[in-house]
Amino acid sequence: MDWENVREQYQQFKEVKQSQPWFKVYDIGHDILAIYEPYHFQEVISYLIKDEEKALLWDTGLGVGDMKKCVEELWDKEYIVVNSHHHFDHIGDNWQFDKVYVFDHPDMIKAVSEPLADSYVLPQFTDDQFADNAPIRTHTYEFRPIRYELFTEGKVFDLGRRRFRVIHTPGHAKDAIMLVNEEEKLLFTGDTYYPAPLYCFEDTFDEYVATMKYLSEEFGDYQLITSHNEPYRPGSIFPSIYQGFLKIQNKEICPVKEFGEREMYEFETFSLIKKKG
Ligand SMILES: [Zn+2]
Repeated sequence: MDWENVREQYQQFKEVKQSQPWFKVYDIGHDILAIYEPYHFQEVISYLIKDEEKALLWDTGLGVGDMKKCVEELWDKEYIVVNSHHHFDHIGDNWQFDKVYVFDHPDMIKAVSEPLADSYVLPQFTDDQFADNAPIRTHTYEFRPIRYELFTEGKVFDLGRRRFRVIHTPGHAKDAIMLVNEEEKLLFTGDTYYPAPLYCFEDTFDEYVATMKYLSEEFGDYQLITSHNEPYRPGSIFPSIYQGFLKIQNKEICPVKEFGEREMYEFETFSLIKKKG
């Protein structure tokens, strides 16, 4: 399969030059650069959020390309690095940076302190997970310890002119956070919402429902900036997701598919894969 240029939204953004063909970098407005990895099926997106003198890197990607080199070709001033949650495709290049800010949660601390299970990571980097036209089609996962600083909910990353507040949004992962910018009504959603089937890996669906209720009440008029496939979606999508989640929780809709321990649901605005039960 050829993943290149299949996502329409990128056509409206200007591509920004950097030297590694693995990454595609786009200026998505709001002084934000999307660092997109289109050649791996995860299609993860990291973001460089710029202010006048300081920037914030939201996640470090798969670790297939050299994220630090990429960032430093795009930005020659100070920057900090923050992880959205502990999953492998968001922390891959953490080890390259002097320090990474991580949420104070056991799952996050574990992921930056000891190797991820081979059974979890290795299947993600087999040949068939890469696009046929990928400039790199292999990756060897290797654990490297990192230097990190913990933060908790309510932490504000102050870049000078722009501020980003942390909210804890468990569901997709127990340690999932989002960044809120109230002045510009921007919400960096991590993997709690993205335009692809949503995943609830663990026994956290009730928490996911509560998170979606909170998001639909507070952030319906925000612009969402998501961490997979395409950057933007409107926050007005949240109430419908919350309604669908409630129906799933109350067993008012049935799964459309089952595989192993998991089941898949479809609703107006989203699909969801969760553990059975
Ligand atoms: Zn994730």
